[in-house]
Amino acid sequence: MKNQKTIKQEVSISGIGLHSGKRVTLTLKPARSNYGIRFARTDLDTPVEIPASVGNVHSTTLATTISLGGVRVSTVEHLMSALWAMGIDNVVCAVDGEEVPILDGSALPFAQLIRKAGVKSLRSPKKYLVAQKTIEIREGSKWAVLRPSREFRIRYSIDFPHPVIGKQDFEFSSSTDFLKEIAPCRTFGFLKDVERMQAMGLALGGSLHNAVVLDDTSALNPEGLRFENEFVRHKILDAIGDFSLIGYPILADVELHRAGHDLQTRLVHELIKTPDAYSIWVPRSDEAFESQFCLTTAAYAL
Ligand SMILES: [Zn+2]
Repeated sequence: MKNQKTIKQEVSISGIGLHSGKRVTLTLKPARSNYGIRFARTDLDTPVEIPASVGNVHSTTLATTISLGGVRVSTVEHLMSALWAMGIDNVVCAVDGEEVPILDGSALPFAQLIRKAGVKSLRSPKKYLVAQKTIEIREGSKWAVLRPSREFRIRYSIDFPHPVIGKQDFEFSSSTDFLKEIAPCRTFGFLKDVERMQAMGLALGGSLHNAVVLDDTSALNPEGLRFENEFVRHKILDAIGDFSLIGYPILADVELHRAGHDLQTRLVHELIKTPDAYSIWVPRSDEAFESQFCLTTAAYAL
């Protein structure tokens, strides 16, 4: 039986917030079965916990922000992606500010933090959301489609009129090694947008230390790219983070073209509110799981 998982011990990491530029500390704490993933604001007089669910998504501009009762936590997607990859179902993510630290702009430091904490199996069985219907959202030349499938798969394609990016596509499936192929891929932005945002008081923490920054012709980071197609791989990292807001690992075939946090979270919303579009499945045994679905990523083997 696939059991739910949490972390073995409390771990912390500090860094700056991408948008505020302020230093913030993230502490991950073990949680019991069926607790889910919750973000806690520890800097407030009355501590607040916000369940990481699609119903609590407040904004998808630039990053995914969740909120509850006027209290918010921003830039949750890279941490959510790492928690998904490491198979963590229950954990408290405590932050002493409005943002999760951006660290190097990828999910790798979060994955390493979770690995440092250790992964612990709980008694309750893991639950999966199984897509039963095709859900589709189109907006001009962008689209997001989700189809029933025996495994979780994402195909992502992007098309930026920029010499370093251009057309890129990548397929993530159960055979992709998330930690090697996806987790190290950093967020990216264009210098002219960064300058414009910083003039508006946004992306104040953005720098070459936590993002790939592009001018009109090249990437400005002296160390270069981690993969030639690091951009589309990062889009997959973000999408996994957004899909993890469902609250269960999802079994569906997802196709995304020039999507982004907005289209991805709208697709998830549409799935959740469509009658008979999904079922929640609890495998009774390893055999039942293996015979019906194949999830063999390194992460799930942890
Ligand atoms: Zn991102």
